[in-house]
Amino acid sequence: MDAPSAFNSPRCPICKKPAAPLDDQAFPFCSQRCRLVDLGRWMDGSYLTSRPLDPTDEDDPDHK
Ligand SMILES: [Zn+2]
Repeated sequence: MDAPSAFNSPRCPICKKPAAPLDDQAFPFCSQRCRLVDLGRWMDGSYLTSRPLDPTDEDDPDHK
C-alpha cells in the first residue's frame, strides 16, 4: 500500500504533477500555468498533428 490514493489523485496532463483540487480553477491541471500551456497547444494545433494515426481510419472505406 505505497500509493493508496493513486486512483483518485489525478495528474496534471502537462507536467504529470498531482493536479489541483477539484474546487481549484486550475483543475484538472496542477496550476493556471499548465492550464494555459494546454490551451496554447490547442491553439497552435499541435494536438491535431501529434494525434497518433489510427490504422482503422484507412481500413474502413464505408465509414468515410
Ligand atoms: Zn502541471
